[in-house]
Amino acid sequence: MHNIAIQVNDLHKSYKKLDVLKGVNLTVEQGSIFALLGSNGAGKTTLVKILTTLLNQDRGTAIVNGFDVASKPAYVRQSISLTGQFTAVDEILTGQENLMMIAKLRHLKQPRQVADALLTRFGLTDAANRRAATYSGGMRRRLDLAMSLVGTPPILFLDEPTTGLDPEARIEVWKEVKKLADGGITVFLTTQYLDEAEQLADRIAILHEGKIIASGTLTELKKLFPAAEVEYVEKQPTLEEIFLAIIGKKEGQ
Ligand code: ADP
Repeated sequence: MHNIAIQVNDLHKSYKKLDVLKGVNLTVEQGSIFALLGSNGAGKTTLVKILTTLLNQDRGTAIVNGFDVASKPAYVRQSISLTGQFTAVDEILTGQENLMMIAKLRHLKQPRQVADALLTRFGLTDAANRRAATYSGGMRRRLDLAMSLVGTPPILFLDEPTTGLDPEARIEVWKEVKKLADGGITVFLTTQYLDEAEQLADRIAILHEGKIIASGTLTELKKLFPAAEVEYVEKQPTLEEIFLAIIGKKEGQ
């Protein structure tokens, strides 16, 4: 039995007349990487906001690190960190100063030691005393990830972590995310990039028209989509083909 980091049951959310979440159910195991896929406007950010206590649901329950988001939001906030699409890095400060600032805000005892350990972990020691404004996109995103780990929260939410990065920088970030999960941190990420889910996620869920319409490992999702025989070569479907087939099937119903 694996321990559960996030459990969502029958979650509903509407904005006035717009029903965005219409009964979402999902489970995320501790120490795994979970990718939530969905088209633009599917409701991914709405779900992340509810799970991170920034928004109240209308109905249903969400338990994060054992705490109910509706009745124990302060405990949930202590258990998580949220990294959005727009990085929280202060450009005027150096990498080390950015990290020390967060460590001080979190009332940690030895902010410099905490900062230096994270700089080493994310390969930023040489750049520690340079202003973040001089960092490349990949370095900035690594600094942002490092900042979200100050105080070592057990659950990390990453909302589109590699949007706007070049391919090399994306691979750098993927490596760091994999290392975090190997170290026992649970990662809940949203992405529109299907190859990102394919590369990183232990489990993938597809949010479409307010519900999770498919979820499982990549292998399980591939089974939903029988491989096409092309002469003598069996063609493996990409996640993109599976995604389009699944949402297409739904829309055709
Ligand atoms: P995603 O992150 O998958 O792109 P969102 O959760 O941001 O989707 O948005 C889902 C839907 O809800 C969209 O149609 C969006 O326009 C709408 N929406 C999001 N936030 C609000 C809000 N505060 N008020 C009204 N509608 C909203």
